[in-house]
Amino acid sequence: MVTRPNEAVPHEFNPWLHVTSLIEQAGRLLKLDEGLVKRIVTPERILEVAIPVRMDSGKVEMFHGWRIQHDTSRGPGKGGIRFHPSVNVDEIAALSADMSIKCAVVNIPYGGAKGGIKVDPSSLSRHELERLTRRYAFSIAPMIGPDRDIPAPDINTDTQVMSWIMDTVSMLRGHNTPGVVTGKPLAIGGTLGHAGATSLGVTICTSALLQRLNRPTIEQRVVIQGYGKVGAPLVRLLSERGMKVVGIADIRGAIHVPGGIDHEVMSQHYSEHGTVVGYPGSIDVPSDQIFTLPSDIAIPAALGGFIDAKVAQSMSATIVVEAANGPTTGDGAAVLASRNIPVVPDVLANAGGVVASYFEWAQDMQGYMWEPELFQQRLEKTMHEAFNHIWTRHQQLEATLRDTAIAVGVERIAEATELRGLFP
Ligand code: NAD
Repeated sequence: MVTRPNEAVPHEFNPWLHVTSLIEQAGRLLKLDEGLVKRIVTPERILEVAIPVRMDSGKVEMFHGWRIQHDTSRGPGKGGIRFHPSVNVDEIAALSADMSIKCAVVNIPYGGAKGGIKVDPSSLSRHELERLTRRYAFSIAPMIGPDRDIPAPDINTDTQVMSWIMDTVSMLRGHNTPGVVTGKPLAIGGTLGHAGATSLGVTICTSALLQRLNRPTIEQRVVIQGYGKVGAPLVRLLSERGMKVVGIADIRGAIHVPGGIDHEVMSQHYSEHGTVVGYPGSIDVPSDQIFTLPSDIAIPAALGGFIDAKVAQSMSATIVVEAANGPTTGDGAAVLASRNIPVVPDVLANAGGVVASYFEWAQDMQGYMWEPELFQQRLEKTMHEAFNHIWTRHQQLEATLRDTAIAVGVERIAEATELRGLFP
């Protein structure tokens, strides 16, 4: 029985060993039976596929991909597909376990899964990318489906890649199968509200935390790392609630605007220049200094592993809301905890995206599209309920919000696993 996708070299950071240690720690906090924790940690299915692709030159290249279902006790697997040269089985396994926890934290009826191909997609032509995607979709088709496992976009995959996967599976099954993936274009079963849903969830968590800490929302100074699919809508959403975004970093640099950034001016500036740098009246700062700028709230919305012990020590903000996946290292989390800086963890803060995916799938399964207002109302309700539950349990367990969120996720998976029993 494979208990660990790969044994790590002891001195190297291994995302799989990191996530398993977090689940085991939650098991101890909840006083769960050791055998049950072992069952929860161990991925249910790991599929590795070889993907031969005929390149435009006529040559055949070989690629490798994975789809991993970590846990399906609460429902079909859910999780993105990424195309990146650094993809490996440990990373995909760790991300699949994160998805099991995230779906349980927001209490949607899904398990966790993840997939990926080790490839640099920028080196492929559009036709090569389509052939790669379709052959991968064909190879993992026996494992995915609306009632088994539902992929979504992740790093370097988008609505077009989802369309090709949906079409490949539909051709294989002989009927239209929109519910096999989420993050699709509207024309083939996507949903209004999907874009921006992650940022809305981050905004709800930020406001809710301020409220719990008896702090005002108005004029709270925010710094954001990242101005992409998550970071850009955040500037508007936070400003609409009265907060003041005073600094933003992107891959080209960072800016400080003590008086606050106007989201419309920034949007216009970004569409003309492709960077936040050069925003009218801004002061340039080194990108890696973004979290030292005088501020009240720090929102990482770009890189994994950026907030290490050093960044955590020099952080000016007194609240962190993790929009990015895994932005804080274990050492960074320890320093933030020692400085009494509350952190809304990624599995809660950025779960708006997977909730939106759940709503897209629900509409596909119903064959009935919801009004945008209904979508928004349900998204807000789900995120508020998740935040309130984690807050209450964090006070009961006397643990950090991160440890509590993981414990709540593990607790819900444990309950489903025990209720279902052991087959045969
Ligand atoms: P994106 O590619 O659209 O944007 C990333 C942003 O980060 C860009 O502005 C880029 O310039 C910036 N960036 C990259 N390297 C940087 C660096 N060294 N310093 C400063 N900025 C840098 O990505 P995204 O979809 O916005 O995702 C951002 C994070 O949120 C990722 O961790 C992702 O896993 C997580 N996330 C995204 C979603 C979603 O719905 N898109 C959902 C959950 C979690």
